[in-house]
Amino acid sequence: MKRKTATKDVSKDDLLKKIHFIMERVVVFDGIDEVLEYIVKSAVSLARAEAATLRIFNVATGKLEIKAGFGLSNRFLNQPPLNLGEGIVGRVVLNGESFKTTDVSKEASCVYKELAELEGIKGLLSVPLRTSSKTIGCLTAYRKTDEVYTDTDLLLLNIFAAQSVEAVEKTKLIEDLKNQATFDQLTNIYNKLFLIKRLEEEIKRASRHNLILSVIFIDIDDFKGFNDTHGHLLGDKLLADFVGLQNTLLRKNDIMGRYGGEEFIIVTPETDKRKALTLTNKLLKAVNHYKFLGRKGSVTGISFSAGISSFPQDGKTVTEIINRADQAMYMAKRGKKNKAKIWESA
Ligand code: GH3
Ligand code: MG
Ligand code: MG
Repeated sequence: MKRKTATKDVSKDDLLKKIHFIMERVVVFDGIDEVLEYIVKSAVSLARAEAATLRIFNVATGKLEIKAGFGLSNRFLNQPPLNLGEGIVGRVVLNGESFKTTDVSKEASCVYKELAELEGIKGLLSVPLRTSSKTIGCLTAYRKTDEVYTDTDLLLLNIFAAQSVEAVEKTKLIEDLKNQATFDQLTNIYNKLFLIKRLEEEIKRASRHNLILSVIFIDIDDFKGFNDTHGHLLGDKLLADFVGLQNTLLRKNDIMGRYGGEEFIIVTPETDKRKALTLTNKLLKAVNHYKFLGRKGSVTGISFSAGISSFPQDGKTVTEIINRADQAMYMAKRGKKNKAKIWESA
């Protein structure tokens, strides 16, 4: 008996060290999916289990969804999401309390007994994933053997779950911050800062490989008038729809960013000015024909003016290239608008 206790303590010690080791590594991951994968894999090894799942409550659907799994078939992982309070894990999340069993087939609350049987699942250990304010999901380890889960197993998985939630929250925060630093929140394309960074990279690449590239500077015509007539909210919607429309017409390698309020820049790698003009005219035609939503359900057409410049012909730096495209755009504005001009003829 004494010997057994001693063995348990040593393994507990080892497992605590393992948790520490595992959590130290999580910080090196970039994305949330990677972190979740790592958490389920680690849960399997910590709980001396054969499989594990991580479920998160989806606020939009109101369901508990499997976000990561390990050691389980797609059939099991693609099971319909559970309602809160439904099934063993649904109760764990609703009540915020851990649960363990050595035989899921004997649990009245288990809803997917057949699926569990097909997987060979016998025992289960499920712990809530709790943030400082609420339970956001659960981490569940599955055993396919008759080995009994001990209170130590439960404690360890709970400690690990607490650390995991912190890692998940931090990674999400970092992802949100990275996203905000890169993308314009209204239109979901690159913001000015990141656009310039991308253009810089493209110019370097073009310079290294002796390639050309063009820049299209777009400014929506009379947008102030649209806002005045239809309101700022529909103005926002127009900007988002405008970008959505352009995205359907651009090639995979084209880079679009929001340069200012109603100003956009498209970088077209390996494209000369003539080809860029053809593309711009295609975009202009599409925008002219599109029915943008106005007040009281009305629809309205819009136009834009654009200027085009190219690397290396019109300049060698980001500033030179953008300024020339901007100047060409102003030439189009000074005319009748609804037009694209290339810098040479400006
Ligand atoms: P022009 O044809 O000379 O370009 O005229 P314009 O009215 O488009 O240009 P102007 O620079 O006078 O006005 C730009 C307008 O764009 C004014 C500003 O309120 C609006 N705007 C800028 N950013 C946003 C935005 O995020 N949402 C909305 N709804 N409007 C915006
Ligand atoms: Mg403007
Ligand atoms: Mg404008």
